[in-house]
Parts: sequence; C-alpha cells; structure tokens
Amino acid sequence: MKYKKKKLVIENFKASVLANKYSTPLYCYSYKKLKENIDNFKKSFNEINPLICFSVKSNSNKTLLSEICKLGLGADVVSIGELMRALKAGISPNRIVFSGVGKTSQEIDFAVKKKILLINAESKSEVLEIEKISKKNKKITNIGIRLNPNTDAKTLRQISTGKRENKFGVSEKIFLSLVNYIKKSKNLKLKCLSVHIGSQILENEPYEKMLKVLEKLLKKTKHNFEYIDLGGGMGINYEDKKKQLNLKRYCLNIKKFLKKYNSKIIFEPGRSIIGNCGYLISKIIYIKETDKKEFIILDAAMNDLMRPALYSAQHRIIPLIKNSKKSKKIYEFVGPICESTDKFLTKKNFQELNEKDFIAICDVGAYGMSLSSNYNLRPKAAELLIKKSKVQIINKRQSLKDLI
Ligand SMILES: *Cc1c(COP(=O)(O)O)cnc(C)c1O
Repeated sequence: MKYKKKKLVIENFKASVLANKYSTPLYCYSYKKLKENIDNFKKSFNEINPLICFSVKSNSNKTLLSEICKLGLGADVVSIGELMRALKAGISPNRIVFSGVGKTSQEIDFAVKKKILLINAESKSEVLEIEKISKKNKKITNIGIRLNPNTDAKTLRQISTGKRENKFGVSEKIFLSLVNYIKKSKNLKLKCLSVHIGSQILENEPYEKMLKVLEKLLKKTKHNFEYIDLGGGMGINYEDKKKQLNLKRYCLNIKKFLKKYNSKIIFEPGRSIIGNCGYLISKIIYIKETDKKEFIILDAAMNDLMRPALYSAQHRIIPLIKNSKKSKKIYEFVGPICESTDKFLTKKNFQELNEKDFIAICDVGAYGMSLSSNYNLRPKAAELLIKKSKVQIINKRQSLKDLI
C-alpha cells in the first residue's frame, strides 16, 4: 500500500477506482502482502522447521484459503464448517488440526473419518467422546491435549485464553491424568501437547513463560510427544507504534527448548498471516456536525467489522485520495447501525473530508469478514483479491434478494 500522486494504491490498483467499480463497503486483500507474511513467518522459524497451520477462523474465504494452501500452510480449524472449507480449499487432512472446547459428536465423527492430523481435546469428557466415536468407526485417532498453562498473554482481556479463569485447555493435574488414560486406550494415540495463550501478543515474555511451563510439565509426563503445538497469537502493528514481537527470538527460545525434546513444532497463526493484507473501503454517507465533533457516517458498520465494537480495537483510517487541508474538527468515524458501539475511531487532525469521499480502514484481513454478520439486515460486503495486477472477486456482495 502506498500513495501515488495522492491516490491510495494497492498493488498498482487505485483504491478509489476499485471502490467506484465494485461499490462499498468493500474488502480488498493484497496477495503480495500475504505471500510476504508467509515467507517472513517461514524464514523466522526456519531453524525449527515447523508445521504452520493457518487459523481458519481469522479469515475463512475459500480463495484465500486455497492460496494459503498453495503457499504451503496447513489449517487450524474450530468447527466442522471450517474443517469442510479447509478440505475444499485443497488442504490435506494430514495438515489439519482441530481445536475448540465444544466439539460436538457430529464434528468429531467427521474429523475421525477424515483422519485429520490431530484433534486437540480440551476436556476429559471430550477425550472420552473421541474415544467412543473412534471405537464405533473402528479407527485409531491421533489426539493432542490442550494445556491451560495459566500464563498471562499481556493482551486484551477479551482475547486472552491461557489463564486459569479462561475456559480453554486443562490444568496440569488433569493433563497428567489424561496422559495416563490415553496411553491405555486402544482407539486413541496421544501425539500432541498443545497450547494457545491468546491473541495479538506483542511481547516475547509470555511465550517464554509458556515454554517454561511446558518444560516442567513434560518432565513430569515422561511421554514422548511427536508434536508440540504452540498455537498462534503473534500480534501485528495496528498503530504506528513500533512495538513488535521478535519472532527470531521466539524461534531461539523454542530451539533451546527442543534440545531436550525431539518433537515437531506446530504453529497456528491467523492474524500475523492475514491481518495486514486487508482493507475495508467505505464511502462517507453523511457528515453530521455537532458542537464538539463531526460524525463521519460511513457505509461500513460494525456488522462488516466487529473488532472495534467487540474489543474496543483501534484500526487506522486513511483517505483514498489525499489532500493537504487539515480539519480543525474532531472526527468520529461511525457506521449506520443502531448501536452506540457502532463506532470505528475518533481522530483529531485528520484531513478535511466531504460527503461521498472514500476512506480505507486498515489491517482488517483477520477477524474482519470472518466476524461479519447481517445485523440490521445489512448484506455482507464483497471481497476482492489483488494478485499479480489482476483483480478477482473472491466473494460476491450479498444481495438484498438473498437476505429478504
Ligand atoms: C484463534 C486461535 C488461533 C489464532 O490466533 P491468532 O491470534 O489469529 O494467531 C490459534 N489457535 C487457536 C486454538 C485459536 O483459537
């Protein structure tokens, strides 16, 4: 993304041209950025040669998944829908891991029959259910157990998953009892220890603490895990601040950790792969003046991009066409939905904006479209992929007819 002659350009395409042609709100993804992120992720962890399973919940677009598959990644899924979508995108079952606290019998049955790489179980009841279903299908299922390492990820409370009070994973005590149970099972094979402590993590320290917890536990289990699944959670830069996770340092920590254990590492990154590849382009419907601020009322809303309303997340907003006039007013970018939380950003010193102007909300590739809804009976936005100077509609705009 850059400006050419004051116009925002995504891989050689003027964003304003795309907005006019395909209408708004419009999700736009850059293939180049996607490839760059995957190459960078691979390079950073090159020394430990991990299996990288893309977290499908962060973006489940079919075309993007098949591109991600072609770039060599597997998938981390959390529902039968995501599992089917990943298979359909061409991802091989032996590169798919299944996470989540509430897998139903139907979901487990499907995963068992498909012989995916791992079902990562999150409770004793789930382990018993997988065993029962494997037995019924006369199969031996590879499973992992997800540990709750009680580690603070130092991220937003709403997206922290590795603390004792969170619903995810099992305690050390239950983990140890499950190891003993599974070892005796005829239909289960214990292959993996998994963890995932949260999302949008920008410091190395939580991961380092997590590795120490794993090390202590592994000493106690005396089981040789073929895989250690460290989850995802690697954060990206939503603001201009320079705080960044050091992937190389994380890799070195893991390398040290692996000296004692001969396991294959699995990662489940979502946001760090697709987050900064996406823009949400939107048109200003009205500008509403008040004493204190001006409401910039967009045609994109919380149903298109839920993160600000759900987590108070802040996404940068930029104009599609730059001018040099600074507004003296405070701008509050909002959507048309009947909720006060339908608000994206409050900004001082933004350039002067007019009704019908376009803006882009940045870094919406992850947890953008995948969290979208039809709230207020608004049709879902279209999605475009820009790849090698070609524009491809990878998801048609939902029509009112579909909805009504
Ligand atoms: C959501 C999730 C991920 C991906 O998290 P990111 O922050 O997008 O990298 C990975 N593993 C599990 C189990 C998850 O629930």
